[in-house]
Amino acid sequence: MRFDTRLVHAGAEPTPGTGDLVPPVHLSVTYERSAQDPLRYFYGRGENPTREALESCLAALEDVRFATAYTSGQAAAEAALSLLSPGQRVVAGDDVYGGTHALFDLVRARGVTVDQVDLADPGRCQAVLADDAAPLAMVWLETPSNPLLKVTDVAAVARHAHRRGALVLVDNTLASPALQQPLSLGADVTLYSTTKFLAGHLDVLGGALVYDDPRLHERLVAHRTTVGTAPGGADCFLVQRGLKTLSLRMARQVQNAQAVVAALGAEPAVCAIHYPGLPGHPQHDVAVRQMRAPGALVSFAYRGDPVQLMERVRLFAAAVSLGGVRSLIECPALMTHRPVPRETRLRVGVGDDLVRLSMGIEDPADLVEDLIRALRARPA
Ligand SMILES: *Cc1c(COP(=O)(O)O)cnc(C)c1O
Repeated sequence: MRFDTRLVHAGAEPTPGTGDLVPPVHLSVTYERSAQDPLRYFYGRGENPTREALESCLAALEDVRFATAYTSGQAAAEAALSLLSPGQRVVAGDDVYGGTHALFDLVRARGVTVDQVDLADPGRCQAVLADDAAPLAMVWLETPSNPLLKVTDVAAVARHAHRRGALVLVDNTLASPALQQPLSLGADVTLYSTTKFLAGHLDVLGGALVYDDPRLHERLVAHRTTVGTAPGGADCFLVQRGLKTLSLRMARQVQNAQAVVAALGAEPAVCAIHYPGLPGHPQHDVAVRQMRAPGALVSFAYRGDPVQLMERVRLFAAAVSLGGVRSLIECPALMTHRPVPRETRLRVGVGDDLVRLSMGIEDPADLVEDLIRALRARPA
């Protein structure tokens, strides 16, 4: 089965006895036992059939055996970081999701070292991963990164990291498996905020880890059951329903991003555009190699007050989050990356003038018109 077919069929086998083509939503948190039953379903914190249907779909999308679903992307990220012990070291990208910065601070407090460097810079990346003097347990990267949309060469990172015996995790939230498959490029684990493109409708929170290692699966399931970060059946149903249209939505969202990028290029109020599809993007060649399309996020530096721009647009909602059917606009310095210290933010290149767009599935002409009108309006 090809990817688009798996989106619809994986984890959706007709239910024996009834023939349901939609996996039933299991809401029960406990299961009646009889002495002779094998102990497959016990308690909802550990097991739920709707959750398993979603997980088998997520694993199939990347051609591996396992996925664990979580209540949010943050819960999934925390689970991955729970694999680390005091004294171990992680090398991570410097331009990562705002909440990931906060999780790194939590593991640092547990005695884990987290060194953040620009992994999109091949020279810097190779130097830091090849440095035998420092231990290396995990490499954590986000590509494209948020909000600067830097692209890291996953295959190159995996080669260097595996030579050191380190686990490679890719936060694939911005690309989704429809555009990029990190496990097939050599990564060990993909992380998703399923809240974003996978569910796609801005109406459910969720997260997932996807991987092929049975020992890792055992550890992650045990951790999730202990700390209680497994999502309920209703939320899993919503994520799996969203998944069926992932490729269709993504195709339109990418088309909208390309239309907006083309229009922004001619606007004097826009000074720098970050989009991996632009031939001038610093890692354009890597993006062409490892992504099916350059994605649905665009960021740019604005010669004006981002707050006024966010007030002037009508179709783009000024809101955090991304990947949904509605187009959103945000200013990372004021919104998603506000908790990141200003110094750190400026050092990685997230200026106060940066604006990020997440394209929805609306008509591209309406979105372009809305944005251009707002950009050209005289400052109030
Ligand atoms: C949103 C997001 C997360 C966190 O996911 P939640 O579902 O909001 O907890 C992690 N990584 C990236 C890249 C994200 O965009």
